[in-house]
Amino acid sequence: MDLNGRTALVTGGSRGIGRAIVRRLAEAGARVVFTYRDDRAAADEVVGRFEGTVAVRADQADLASLEPMFAPVRDGLDILVNNAGIGPATPIAELTAEEFDRVMTVNAKFPLLAMREAATLLRDGGRIVNISTLNTVLPAPGLALYCGSKAALEQFTAVAARELGARGITVNTVTPGATDTDMLRGANPAETLAQATTLTALGRLGQPEDIAAVVAYLVGPDAQWITGQNIRATGGLLV
Ligand code: NAP
Repeated sequence: MDLNGRTALVTGGSRGIGRAIVRRLAEAGARVVFTYRDDRAAADEVVGRFEGTVAVRADQADLASLEPMFAPVRDGLDILVNNAGIGPATPIAELTAEEFDRVMTVNAKFPLLAMREAATLLRDGGRIVNISTLNTVLPAPGLALYCGSKAALEQFTAVAARELGARGITVNTVTPGATDTDMLRGANPAETLAQATTLTALGRLGQPEDIAAVVAYLVGPDAQWITGQNIRATGGLLV
């Protein structure tokens, strides 16, 4: 796939799935601007390793981060990947209004406003990919805000596909299954990971590269007829 001459913006590109997406797009020749929140060293490592990448600090809990995030792509954008997300586990009985606002802002409001910016910046034929979670169809205790915010993101994706299609812009959701990242390992004990592996048809945890491959396909020319879809890249965790 050749993305030479294309500009991509990827949120949460310093680690995990986002880092693998940055790598795939950069290796295909795209100029890739990506965000990170805290881990400057990880972001610097990505910039040093993958040619054509630029790191911008942006905390999605703070809408003021939209401005610096879009500053390097004001001259034109071809691809937006809303990847960054958080999944704190809190039982509904213990939820606070503040946590509702924080998770909904990071996972849904900020990505929606990023799509708003992209709607005017994207060149015709552009691409938006939003990363959701299988938890929107396999809910788990403690994940009310995670499931709710990602379900909202899936709906924003579908509506954006209808709104932007006339310009040849595709908008899709990619849903990872259990994927081996800091987020997965931080949120789950070893037994849960073993159980997820057993339940996955292909018999292993996903790797960030498995998800990046699907995103790379969707942002490439061969996926021009796919829009408004939710592609479940889960290795068959839900069949
Ligand atoms: P991860 O390993 O925790 O990496 C998260 C990335 O997002 C990092 O680059 C981090 O930056 C950035 N980030 C976190 N909070 C942010 C904020 N408030 N503002 C801006 N950036 C922020 O996560 P991951 O597992 O790769 O997950 C990526 C996406 O896939 C998420 O949307 C997640 O919900 C989804 N997902 C993951 C799995 C899984 O099994 N891993 C499954 C389904 C869906 P720093 O490096 O600075 O911290």
